[in-house]
Amino acid sequence: MNNIPLHGTYKNTALAGRYITLSDLFPHIENFSSRCTVSVEGHSVLGANLYSLRWGYGPKKILAWSQMHGNESTTTKAVFDIFHFFENSGAYNDAVARFLEQHTLLVLPMLNPDGAASYTRENANQVDLNRDAKKRTQPESQVLRSVFERFKPDLCLNLHDQRTIYGVSGGTSATLSFLAPAADRKRSITPARKTAMQLIAAMSEVLSAHIPGHIGRYDDTFNVNCVGDTFQKKGVPTILFEAGHFPGDYQREQTRKYIFYAFLSLFDIIERPEPPYKKYFDIPENQNHFRDVVLRDISLPEVEGVQSIAIQFKEVLKDDTIRFVPHLDAIGSKLELRGHVEKNLNGKKVLINSHENVFVNEEIVTLTDENGDSIEDFLAI
Ligand SMILES: [Zn+2]
Repeated sequence: MNNIPLHGTYKNTALAGRYITLSDLFPHIENFSSRCTVSVEGHSVLGANLYSLRWGYGPKKILAWSQMHGNESTTTKAVFDIFHFFENSGAYNDAVARFLEQHTLLVLPMLNPDGAASYTRENANQVDLNRDAKKRTQPESQVLRSVFERFKPDLCLNLHDQRTIYGVSGGTSATLSFLAPAADRKRSITPARKTAMQLIAAMSEVLSAHIPGHIGRYDDTFNVNCVGDTFQKKGVPTILFEAGHFPGDYQREQTRKYIFYAFLSLFDIIERPEPPYKKYFDIPENQNHFRDVVLRDISLPEVEGVQSIAIQFKEVLKDDTIRFVPHLDAIGSKLELRGHVEKNLNGKKVLINSHENVFVNEEIVTLTDENGDSIEDFLAI
């Protein structure tokens, strides 16, 4: 893939890391307002503006929304990289101009600004907006629905992050997973769904050159409360993006790059292959089989036999940054989970929090060997 724009050239470096709030976005939204149409579509529970940015003036309409889950910011970063690229496309000027002539792209970059501020999935009323598509009890859900009905998109992009627990069969992390959500309980392949599948297969083919084996297909159980399922049911092709873990990249700055490439391909700015829609089913399914750290072949006091432990980081907002706090996730003699970091300790005795007893879900404050020496290096990210 020599003909791909270098992401670093377009990366909006002022937006970095996992904690991205509306006040981080605001100066960039203002900057772009001379180039695209910025609107306030409504307000969140706590009164924050729900912005949209409209690019292009073509007949094919694409509606995208990011951060409907407040703590899922990777696609938001990639969206602003794409806006930056539109403004400074250099050698790609013609391709960008063609895209903007043929398409109107309407993006709500932060549908849940209250959740973004508190780094929570839910909004300020503790409601998961992606389970509120049917009842629409929340102002953010009502705004998205009214934009959808007024704009009448030909394609919807539902932009999310997934946790590090997801991998793909074959044993790699799911750096990017896609879903063409079901439109009914039978998971029929409706015309809209078929279009979404075909576009996903095309993006997957392009990304496979960069991250082979790291692309997954999300579970397609139908849920009418999910926004993607609802829009697909209404006959509008809808694609779910789930930005996930790239090895060592807890800030998701690498993953952001692959989302950027996926957009470039989807928008036909770089090569977009034309695989048959059935290629979608060749993408391996997501599996919940990864944890952040797995320590194998250890001995624990009060637990008989050789054990393995799995450790999972919980993301905690503190002092405006996200801390990755280790918790004991599982103990077992035949643990089938894989670790993004795996260590075999060859039977070494391990003491967690200086306890004789260990408890699943406990925060790991100290991790020591039998001499009392710290082995917490395994928890460094
Ligand atoms: Zn999500």
